[in-house]
Amino acid sequence: MFKAADRLSAIKPSPTLSISTKASELKAAGRDILTLSAGEPDFNTPDFVCDAAYAAAKAGETKYTPVGGTNELKQAIINKFKRDNDIEYAMDEVMAGTGGKQILYNGFMASVNKGDEVIIPAPYWVSYPDMTLLAEGTPVIVECSEAEGFKITAEKLEAAITPKTKWLILNSPSNPTGATYTKSEMKALTDVLLRHKHVMVMSDDIYEQLVYEDTEFCTPVQVEPKLKERVLTCNGVSKSHAMTGWRLGYCGGPAPLLKAMTKLQSQSTSNPSSITQAAAVAALNGDQSFLNDWRAAYLKRRNMVVEKLRAIDGMTCLNPTGAFYCYAGIEAYMGAKMDNGDVIKTDEDFVKYLLEDQGVAAVHGEAFGLSPFFRVSYATSDDILIDACERIAKACAKLERPALRVT
Ligand code: PLP
Repeated sequence: MFKAADRLSAIKPSPTLSISTKASELKAAGRDILTLSAGEPDFNTPDFVCDAAYAAAKAGETKYTPVGGTNELKQAIINKFKRDNDIEYAMDEVMAGTGGKQILYNGFMASVNKGDEVIIPAPYWVSYPDMTLLAEGTPVIVECSEAEGFKITAEKLEAAITPKTKWLILNSPSNPTGATYTKSEMKALTDVLLRHKHVMVMSDDIYEQLVYEDTEFCTPVQVEPKLKERVLTCNGVSKSHAMTGWRLGYCGGPAPLLKAMTKLQSQSTSNPSSITQAAAVAALNGDQSFLNDWRAAYLKRRNMVVEKLRAIDGMTCLNPTGAFYCYAGIEAYMGAKMDNGDVIKTDEDFVKYLLEDQGVAAVHGEAFGLSPFFRVSYATSDDILIDACERIAKACAKLERPALRVT
């Protein structure tokens, strides 16, 4: 009888799985389901990127490449970091992997020893704590409230650092909140880090290109170049170029760390797909102006969703400055009674109710480490978003809230 390895006992399957399984079951049963749980752009990969991949395949670029990527790709990554972030990396300070996720995973597995602490501000992207646990590290979750804009403050960071701290994880713009650190907020954090020389920073910049209005993206090394030897700057083409299925992530960081990550990758997946690498070279070097249209479309959707969610009695919704998610607060609905008399006790109960009652699939805040909230992805069509927000409003209106209950 098969028994999974002990290391898997520390981690849980993706918490978003139960809601998507339920959504698929309802869809299969013929229900009209609107999905607001997707973590990927609904746009197509730009044609010039697909053309480069096709040309590479036809030209025979179908063999193994160096583990961390071709020289052309590494050069394109170096150019990107210089152009967009004013960071100068050398060839041995960049590498590519199979998705941003593998880059982060490599980073943890190549550096974390048993008991090393990893500071993870919550709400967090679901994989950070589990990757830490797989590497036998200890996640140190620091809750960042809605009042704090879901961002870690210098004081909270200072208080969380111990002699065992290995990494601080930063993700700006954030999945699931869309919160984006300003330059001065980032500087306050890097000032703390300058005082704690044993702490490294994993900066997950995957949503860099998706910032709205006057929001300016920044990354730790750009704000404090003195930290360059202690920061792994992670990025990828998944969200910027709508290339989630192509699987290409990349990073810049200190050469010894990248050497260790490359060694690990050489014994796991080897190089990312050669054809995807050619596509990524085109994506990173090519004209980025298509992003203006995408940003305009996301901004319009964001404004619409935020307005509609805020109009629901008792619901809170901060204005996200980046990515394509809203993180709506539902404290007012905890303890609310459904038609059948059942009570909503958690944000998971709330999203299950939305799905069952109105066919809207969203993700509960508990999955991201801060309750009671739910995450809405607005990377879908305006029509779906309008319909979904109306259904959410309808579901909420049917609930008997404790504050409104006559006693
Ligand atoms: N980091 C964050 C914050 C994400 O939201 C995601 C994907 O959803 C990733 C990393 C992984 O991206 P990729 O598809 O490139 O592996």
